[in-house]
Amino acid sequence: MDENIRSRGGIAWISPPDGHLDVSGPTGVRAALSLRSGGISDSPFASLNLGHSAGDAPVSVSENERRYTGALGLPGPIARARLAHGREVRLVNSPGVYAGCDGLLTSNRNLPLWLTVADCYPIYISEPGGWIGLLHCGWKGAAGGCIASIIARMVEVSGCQPSVIRAWIGPGIGQSCYTVGPDIAARFPGVCVRAEGGENRLDLSLAAAILLLDAGLVPGSVTRSALCTACREDLFFSYRRDGARSGRMAAVIWK
Ligand SMILES: [Zn+2]
Repeated sequence: MDENIRSRGGIAWISPPDGHLDVSGPTGVRAALSLRSGGISDSPFASLNLGHSAGDAPVSVSENERRYTGALGLPGPIARARLAHGREVRLVNSPGVYAGCDGLLTSNRNLPLWLTVADCYPIYISEPGGWIGLLHCGWKGAAGGCIASIIARMVEVSGCQPSVIRAWIGPGIGQSCYTVGPDIAARFPGVCVRAEGGENRLDLSLAAAILLLDAGLVPGSVTRSALCTACREDLFFSYRRDGARSGRMAAVIWK
């Protein structure tokens, strides 16, 4: 369990268990997923919407971002992934928008990595040499190999063994709220799917953990949030629950 909620100046976020990603000694790795309170957006984006793509006023999103990044105390401007639901991972060393990718990696200690989610899982990774990474993982990306892709790339660029990589699977849509068709269910291990009332319910967080272990991580190095973005309307936006005009949370990892 990692219901590790922090706040500053009316802005709140959830973090991994203390120290979980801190494999690089005193430099420290920090990670956050924003919660929905403390911003200025009106319904249905109330109030800390950090997504620009669903129809919220740009000025509101910008002010929300200013508040969130200020509360986190980020060390510099951000590198953002513009998501594609694929397995493309980019190595980045400067701020900006990186289109067509779902994963980012950096060893630049002044460069926070950022992406937005609403039900899909943010996965945060670190390794002892100082590389950090952030991945957007929905069913499509998971089935398409996005987890193997980011772990292989981190191993390649850092020279580390996969067994020393740490991962935190943040909040996303939980199994009870996530019905999928048989075609999607069939793409995941049976242990991740529960048949109920003629429907399949997918535990995508468990699937992500299994894929991380398949990629060479060891069990104690992978932790998962137990929070469901669809159940916890008080904390999160949810695409499944709220529809196309859903707000977005922002996932960030930095040092
Ligand atoms: Zn739920």
